[in-house]
Amino acid sequence: MKEKSKKGKLALHWKILLGMLAGVMFSLFLVNTSWGASLTTIKLKGIDVEISRAGLLVRDWIKPFGTMFINALKLIAVPLILASLIKGVSDLKDISKLSKMGFRTIGTYIGTTLIAVSIGLVVVNLVNPGKTITEETRNDLVMSYSQGAGEKISAAAEQKESGPLKALEELVPDNIFKAASNNGNMLQVIVFAIFFGIGLILIPADKSAPVKVFFDGFNEVILKLIDLIMLAAPYGVFALLAALVVEAPSQDLFLALIWYAVSVVIGLFIMILIYIGLVYFFTGRKPGFFLNGISPAQLLAFSTSSSAATLPVTMERVEEHLGVEEEVTSFVLPIGATINMDGTSLYQAVAAIFIAQAFGMELDLYAQLGIVVTATLASIGSAAVPGAGMVMLVIVLAQAGIPEAGLALIFAIDRPLDMLRTTVNVTGDAAVSMLIAKSVGKLGDPKPKDWDDNLVTNS
Ligand code: ASP
Repeated sequence: MKEKSKKGKLALHWKILLGMLAGVMFSLFLVNTSWGASLTTIKLKGIDVEISRAGLLVRDWIKPFGTMFINALKLIAVPLILASLIKGVSDLKDISKLSKMGFRTIGTYIGTTLIAVSIGLVVVNLVNPGKTITEETRNDLVMSYSQGAGEKISAAAEQKESGPLKALEELVPDNIFKAASNNGNMLQVIVFAIFFGIGLILIPADKSAPVKVFFDGFNEVILKLIDLIMLAAPYGVFALLAALVVEAPSQDLFLALIWYAVSVVIGLFIMILIYIGLVYFFTGRKPGFFLNGISPAQLLAFSTSSSAATLPVTMERVEEHLGVEEEVTSFVLPIGATINMDGTSLYQAVAAIFIAQAFGMELDLYAQLGIVVTATLASIGSAAVPGAGMVMLVIVLAQAGIPEAGLALIFAIDRPLDMLRTTVNVTGDAAVSMLIAKSVGKLGDPKPKDWDDNLVTNS
C-alpha cells in the first residue's frame, strides 16, 4: 500500500478495494456459518419462498445501503450532464470546434467498438466454449433459468419490434422535463444540452454571460456532491458486493459456463491492454499513470455494473487525475457512457457465437461479419445500466438466426461478466477522452484534489 494521500490517508482506490473485499468476505463467512446457511421462509409477492438466514440478513440490513449509494450517484448524473455539457459546449466558443470534436469522438468510439467486437470473435473462435456444452447441460441451463430470464426475454422481444430509425428518432426529446426525469433517456438530455450550448455560443456575450456563470456555479456544486458521495464509496461497495455474494447462483452452473466466461474475460483483458497501448502511443502517458488515475472509476463500474452510475466519478477522475480539460470531458464522457460500450460489444460477440455453438450451429464468415455490425449497433443502443447488454443481445441473435432461447444459457453468469464488461466500457471512455483531448490540444497536467483534502480546503 505505497500510495497514500498527502495526509497519510489511504488512496481512494485502496479504500474502495478494501470495502469490496470486506463485503465479499463478510457474506462468504456468513453463508458458511450454520446459522447463516439455515433456511427460513418469507413471503414474496404473496408466495412462500425459502431463503437462507444470511441472505435475509444481507437483503434487509445491508443491501439497502448499497442501493442508497447507487441512487445517490444516479441522482446527480442528469444535472451533471446538463451543467457540464452546457458549460463545456459554450466554452468552445465556436461551432466548428464542436463539430470537429464531435466527429473525432464518434469516429474513435466506433473504431474502438469495432476492434472490441473483432477481438471477441477471434477469441471465441479460438476457445470454442460452446462445444463443451452437452445437450443435457444445455437443457439444465435453460430449465433452471428460464424463469429468471423470462423478464429479460420479454424486454428483448420488445427491442426487436422497433424500426431501423427508432434509435435516431428517440434522440430528440419532445419535452426536456420528461427526458430529464428518466435516467434511461440520457442521450436525449445530452442532445438538449448540446443544443442549448450551441444557442449560448450564438447569442451576444452580454446576454450569454449570466447564463454561463450560472451553469458554471451549478457545475461546481455537482462536482462537490460527487466528492461527498465518494466519501461513502467504500461502504457502498461493501454493501453491494455483500449482496451479490448471497444472491449468487449455484456453483455448478458457473462451472458449466466456465469456458464461455474465460473467453469473455480474455477478450476484455486484451481490450484493456489495447487502451493502455493507445493512450501510451498517442499521448505518451504511462500505463501506471492511466490506471492509477482511472482506477476508482473502474472499481465503481465493477461494483455497480452501470456506466451511467459511474459517470460522475469517471468525469471527475479523467479531469482531475488524467489532465483532460473540462471542455473535452464534459462532451466526450457523457456521450461515451451512453454509446461507447466496447466491453458490451465484445461480450455480445462472444455470447452470440457461444450460443450458436451450444446449439450446434456453424456460423460462416458472412454470418460473423453480420455480428460485427449488429454487435456494434446493439452496444450503442444498450442503456448504461446493469444487464442492458444482455437484453440488446437479442438483436444480434435474431440477425444471425441464432435461437433466442439461448439467452437463458448465459443468464446464470451474466452478472459477474456484466461487472467486468462495465469496467471495460468505462476504461474505454476514459482512454478515448485522452486521445481526443490530445488531438485538440486539451490534455494538460493532472490537477488532483484529494477527496478529503478537497472537502477540508473548501469548507
Ligand atoms: N452494464 C453495462 C454498462 O452499464 C451495460 C451492459 O453491458 O449490460 O455499461
